[in-house]
Amino acid sequence: MSRLRITEVFLSLQGEARTVGLPTVFVRLTGCPLRCDWCDTEYAFQGGVWREIPELTAEVGAFGVRHVCVTGGEPLAQQAVHELLRALCDAGFEVALETSGALDVCGVDPRVSRVMDLKAPGSGEVGRNRWENLHCLTARDQVKFVLRDRADYDWACEQLRVHDLTERCEVLFSPVHGVLPPRQLAEWILADRLPVRFQLQLHKLLWGEERGR
Ligand code: SF4
Repeated sequence: MSRLRITEVFLSLQGEARTVGLPTVFVRLTGCPLRCDWCDTEYAFQGGVWREIPELTAEVGAFGVRHVCVTGGEPLAQQAVHELLRALCDAGFEVALETSGALDVCGVDPRVSRVMDLKAPGSGEVGRNRWENLHCLTARDQVKFVLRDRADYDWACEQLRVHDLTERCEVLFSPVHGVLPPRQLAEWILADRLPVRFQLQLHKLLWGEERGR
């Protein structure tokens, strides 16, 4: 039977993206091949517990909410994640997948809403973006930029233009927490009339860096 290495399963409010504010069960998979400078989940790089998929699906169901977010680490680094995503969709959950954008997202179950990062230069991982992923994104999906400074912002604007991103899917811009002042990013977006969604990480406003929140 397929197993996955899991760091944590918990109930919180979705802190980001289209379903922000909704009660959501998070399934955090262990491990990530990237090392973004501003990563806030380094505790998920190692450790974790091997779990079987039916047991995980049952644990998610016991929370009694409709939305599930499969995250990491980098969840696509474990092949069996596809089986988990299928099982959660089959069970009737609204499923989102948060991914770095460095691995192939095109084989993900089409019922899943993909929230895919494009790593800006300030992350130190811009070379890991898998640009082929953009071709299979649809209006169900979202592309997220986490921006450290004006150079990252200018780079993100260039990607919007070159790849016609806002025509493909929803686009999210976030400031690196504690580094780029949110108001500064908001003002740049307004000045440029960018058709992107500005977002802050709601869970950090509510609970700071507490784990399992
Ligand atoms: S991809 Fe995500 S989990 Fe991996 S290092 Fe970057 S921010 Fe951290």
